[in-house]
Amino acid sequence: MLEVNPPVPGAQVKRMPRARQFAPVLERLRSAGLRPTRQRLALARLLFDKAARHVSAEQLHAEAVAASIPVSLATVYNSLHQFTAAGLLREVVVEAGRSYFDTNTSEHHHFYHEDSGSLQDIAGSELGVSELPTPPSGTTVSRIDVIVRLRKYE
Ligand SMILES: [Zn+2]
Repeated sequence: MLEVNPPVPGAQVKRMPRARQFAPVLERLRSAGLRPTRQRLALARLLFDKAARHVSAEQLHAEAVAASIPVSLATVYNSLHQFTAAGLLREVVVEAGRSYFDTNTSEHHHFYHEDSGSLQDIAGSELGVSELPTPPSGTTVSRIDVIVRLRKYE
């Protein structure tokens, strides 16, 4: 699993008045066409108020619980998929049933460390894909995601 910095409950709450504290994520949700419910706002703050990162639903749920945000794992899953559908996140499926949600939605690829289960960004410019097969008729390539799987030397 990825390493998690323990969130500091309430750390950012006291710095700004309530309305301003939510402003950036509020605008982000609205401009993505998502109704800014209390739970979505709280989860969006956990996701986007830090540097770009890769987070699993379980990890985000643990952060929410630690920050005293009353939200179920199912709601976290639903919100992550809604954020992804709205273009705020990218889902990176590393194995069947194992996904990370990437707050960096720019074009890039990933190293996947199989031993630690963590993702590391590869800049889009660092990797080129040549000789793509012709897409089936009636389709066009929308995006190419490359996951380079790594393991430690024996
Ligand atoms: Zn990434």
